[in-house]
Amino acid sequence: MKYIAYCRKSREEKDKQILSIQAQIAELKEYAKREHLEITEFIEEEKTAKIPGREKFAEVLKKIEKGQASGIIAWHPDRLARNSIDGGKIIYLLDTGKLKDLKFPTSWFENTPQGKFMLNIAFGQSKYYVDNLSENVKRGLRQKLRIGVYPGKAPFGYINNPKTRGIDVEPEKLKAIKKAFELFAEGNKTFTDIAIFLHKFGLRRKNQKPLHINEIRRILANRFYVGIMEYNGEYYEGTHKVIISKELFQQVQRQLEFKDRHKKRRYNFAFMGLMKCGECGATITAESHKKFYKGTNRTVEYVYYRCTKKIKPCNQPYISEPELEQQFRKAINNVALSETWANDWCKWLEEDEKLDIISIHENIEKLEQELRALDEKLNKLLDGYLDGVIESEVYKTKKNEVFEQKLKITEELEQIKQNGSSWLEPFRNFIGSALLCAKIARAKNTSEEIAFFGKTVGSNFFLTNRQLAVSYRKGFAELCAPPPAQSQSRLNFADSLSVGVRGIGPPASRSQTERSTDELHPAFAKASVVRRHRLCRRHAGRPVEVPRVGVEPTSLLGTRS
Ligand SMILES: [Zn+2]
Repeated sequence: MKYIAYCRKSREEKDKQILSIQAQIAELKEYAKREHLEITEFIEEEKTAKIPGREKFAEVLKKIEKGQASGIIAWHPDRLARNSIDGGKIIYLLDTGKLKDLKFPTSWFENTPQGKFMLNIAFGQSKYYVDNLSENVKRGLRQKLRIGVYPGKAPFGYINNPKTRGIDVEPEKLKAIKKAFELFAEGNKTFTDIAIFLHKFGLRRKNQKPLHINEIRRILANRFYVGIMEYNGEYYEGTHKVIISKELFQQVQRQLEFKDRHKKRRYNFAFMGLMKCGECGATITAESHKKFYKGTNRTVEYVYYRCTKKIKPCNQPYISEPELEQQFRKAINNVALSETWANDWCKWLEEDEKLDIISIHENIEKLEQELRALDEKLNKLLDGYLDGVIESEVYKTKKNEVFEQKLKITEELEQIKQNGSSWLEPFRNFIGSALLCAKIARAKNTSEEIAFFGKTVGSNFFLTNRQLAVSYRKGFAELCAPPPAQSQSRLNFADSLSVGVRGIGPPASRSQTERSTDELHPAFAKASVVRRHRLCRRHAGRPVEVPRVGVEPTSLLGTRS
């Protein structure tokens, strides 16, 4: 009887128990010699048998069907088939009599009903092994994620420990990465600068060159460095050691955002995309015109801003960039805070902080209770998912939702524990940036910086008859004391919070301290509103628009990944 020897090993089979193809050939040759079997040819395949569609295997079957051979030799049944379709084909050929015999050095087979039954089980076992393997892998991954260990390749600065199967720190490299975060946060470093810096500490590509700038960007945006693992689109809390603070991470995210915005403006149209037309509501765009002057023999570029008129016909005129920039400076200057006021506010803030300590304990308890409730929710979700009651997509979405809530509360909790109360710090930061407004509005800054800060203080800008109208963000709206003629139109834009508290003046005297701080100064009314809003937000799950300022802590989840 003629036999075809079929040898298979896929590259993904890491199992050392499975022989290489060369070793299988050697084994089969020896086995054939010992058993006096005639092998007509050896057919080798480097594909997995988990899924149907192996070419060489099909070739074997074809040859058997054509009668070129009537037996197959393989090292083990699992070399022949690891899926039910291929296993079925073999059995069918045995049933129809085209295939008369199978030989395995590692296992016994006889072409009888019992033999076929056993073979079926052998194939089935292989399939069971595959199914089990992938199920085990999945289970292992889930378990790792559950205990907070990243199941993938550790990012730079960390290393997978093959013994403990955990994630260890590479102290020198992680320190270098922290330094890189700090350097980047300063704002005047490029991705290339960071790549060169990291290169010195051995963080480099396989070819020893500095890391690609995209890789640097990924590192700087990777939340793994603040303890959050993203896996398969889901978030998990990691237990690996973290040395980069969330504040530093946030600063870096803002720098990345700033760089992005910078990059998009290739032609240096600083204020593009910031304004809408006051007449028709269309976007304001920019264009540049070059003009050649014969007398001085040079070309001068002029930048204009105008309505795109894409919504409907509109009669708005264009405006030149210097004129527009002047108006932006004015808009920023309008909400500038004087140093004396800022100092006074900070003092009052400190007093208010003392009063606030009493309520802090209650707050902490409440937040911790909410955390426990969310944990319970997560567990129930997981149970439902494992029981097959909840579909995978629904589970993912829902889980990320809950996780996000949890993250926000954790952050808030951390902040309260650290700074006393969640509204004080943002408010203090707000005072800082309001103080900055005066400096920014001064002539030294570039139009990009003006535009960036414009977005910090204002949420909407409208251009009507070459006049810029601003709707200030919360907090800044309260600082703005416009002359009566303009106040009406601004009032339309300004948010409801600001009504009744505009036109702030310096306090009459410090002897007023016996009154409640809310009465004392409108800004404190505002601060309490922020405080109340934050409380509401926790219940409604809706974010509140707080001043988006260079130093304001925002949610970790709001940033890029
Ligand atoms: Zn228009």
